[in-house]
Amino acid sequence: MRIDLHCHTTASDGKLTPVEIVQRAHTMQIRYLSITDHDTVAGIEAAQQAAAKLPASSPLHIIPGVEISCRWQGFEIHILGWQMDTEAAELAQLLEQQHVRRRERAAQIAEKLQAAGVSRQALDKVAASSSDNLTRKHFADAMVAAGDVKDIDSAFRRYLGKGNCAYVQPEWCSIEEAVAAIQSAGGYAGLAHPLAYQLSSKWLKRLLRDFSAAGGDALEVASGQQEKLHRQQLAELANDYKLKASAGSDFHGPSQWRELGRNLQLPEISEPVWQSWSLTE
Ligand SMILES: [Zn+2]
Ligand SMILES: [Zn+2]
Repeated sequence: MRIDLHCHTTASDGKLTPVEIVQRAHTMQIRYLSITDHDTVAGIEAAQQAAAKLPASSPLHIIPGVEISCRWQGFEIHILGWQMDTEAAELAQLLEQQHVRRRERAAQIAEKLQAAGVSRQALDKVAASSSDNLTRKHFADAMVAAGDVKDIDSAFRRYLGKGNCAYVQPEWCSIEEAVAAIQSAGGYAGLAHPLAYQLSSKWLKRLLRDFSAAGGDALEVASGQQEKLHRQQLAELANDYKLKASAGSDFHGPSQWRELGRNLQLPEISEPVWQSWSLTE
């Protein structure tokens, strides 16, 4: 069974619309796909409608999801939610609060970029964006397009990354708040891309301990681009902290690096978070 529990659409910083991502997932023969946009569930309904139109012989099921930015010990940590009631009040309230924070942060970043001499063209492009869910990646994309930097990586290294001139410390919710909002909506909470935070092994264990203590359900053990050894280590860590395992590509759009549903096999020792979801095949 092909399953991918982590991807983004144009509802946050993905390149494909919910309808396009459903088409691509269908081509990739994925059976279960979770749309996990940053702090929003806005893309899910359109994806579900598109998936419902696919032929019954090769169905694609859309699992409601979200990826919530949290603040933990000065780091930005991402918590995935799956299988929530997307209209639950506590979750909706938390996401709205995150939106307000995101808008405020985007305005501060724009100010700093302007002061740092980034082109009007790039900033206007972000300002004109239809997204009400602006991320640093939107700024990076606009700066690449306007020729301010040569690629996304340089945009983060020179301007947007932590410690650089246009970095603004986010005021996200706590891990406890995110887990509570997801679970109160009937969902499951997973810690996304544990190796992306560049924590030392001691700090990573501290994070897992806190996430587990907050009632977190799963660790994202399998991601598309990953060394075998890392996947095995994460599987062992998940077991050590009584967390189930999830698998997700974190697909943001067509590129040579990532593909929906590709290379997401969990190690044998892992207990998949979806085991209790009664998925059929
Ligand atoms: Zn993330
Ligand atoms: Zn993501």
